[in-house]
Amino acid sequence: MSEIKTIGVLTSGGDAPGMNAAVRAVVRTGIYYGLKVMGIRKGYAGLLNGDMEEMTLRSVGDIIHRGGTILQTARSAEFNSEAGVKKAISIAKVFGLDALIVIGGDGSYRGARDLANQGFPVICIPGTIDNDIASTEYTIGFDTALNTVQDAIDKIRDTAYSHERCSVLEVMGRHAGYIALNVAISGGAEAVILPEKEFDIDRDIIKPIIEGRNRGKKHYLVIIAEGVGGAVEIAKYIEEKTDIKTRATILGHIQRGGSPTVYDRVMASRMGAYAVKLLKEGKINRVIALQKGVITDFDINEALQMKKTIDEEMVELNKILAL
Ligand code: ATP
Repeated sequence: MSEIKTIGVLTSGGDAPGMNAAVRAVVRTGIYYGLKVMGIRKGYAGLLNGDMEEMTLRSVGDIIHRGGTILQTARSAEFNSEAGVKKAISIAKVFGLDALIVIGGDGSYRGARDLANQGFPVICIPGTIDNDIASTEYTIGFDTALNTVQDAIDKIRDTAYSHERCSVLEVMGRHAGYIALNVAISGGAEAVILPEKEFDIDRDIIKPIIEGRNRGKKHYLVIIAEGVGGAVEIAKYIEEKTDIKTRATILGHIQRGGSPTVYDRVMASRMGAYAVKLLKEGKINRVIALQKGVITDFDINEALQMKKTIDEEMVELNKILAL
């Protein structure tokens, strides 16, 4: 493979706080090593349209603290075909790109794998609030999303306590319950319902609430992952069955925004720099990951074969701590 001199960077899929810190790290580390860095707007859709420009040290100034992504993001149906991938590679060549750094979730990884398998070098950085990428313990934006939800829980708890109410909170995670399970523990929930586990409303929600009441509890918190849904109906059912006033809150997109936490900024900076260093060393078609607290990398095809499961010990812990 010839030496990599020009790299493209894009953000794809759902936006996540910390993506900007990763873009900044890619641009500044790239320039530090003498590379030319092109910023591609709106993910693979922008790549297909040639919507890109050269980034400078200053074009990534004043973005480290901002949520969202200055490069913007998009979902592209056109890219999801062999013809789309081939077209994207031909456009990348028009702009002189030798490799692409993709910051995004699982779907974005699959798009990058298609590029890699058609001969175009890629590196992926995990960026999604859901933390649902199998090859890594952590994804950029997850920590900020957890803290945003925790902040909402603390506010909801104040009013639930004052009125002796039950609160049902629906949090993001269409297929993954990592946000739900973590905030259940950090927020002290009586019950948590995850998309990965089948559930029975009487066994998993009503019983712990009534048992908690018998042990002297005066307010209750139930966390529902978005993939399970139905927070309003679940709240009604709890009220009917227990006579405890119950309110549902669906947090929605508030969880995607906001200034990234220190952890997300530092990890995004480290992963962005790591991605550029891999390319400098001639390593291609890798995904960046955190494993046992250490930043490492895997082959993209191997990474997409990996499976991630919910931590049963944490599920059990939540039940014990809700006593
Ligand atoms: P999030 O987890 O935050 O939703 P994501 O990266 O998983 O992020 P997607 O919408 O699934 O978000 O994917 C982003 C883009 O990646 C898609 O619009 C598409 O262009 C490409 N992509 C998604 N799935 C595939 C696939 N199976 N094969 C090839 N490309 C894909």
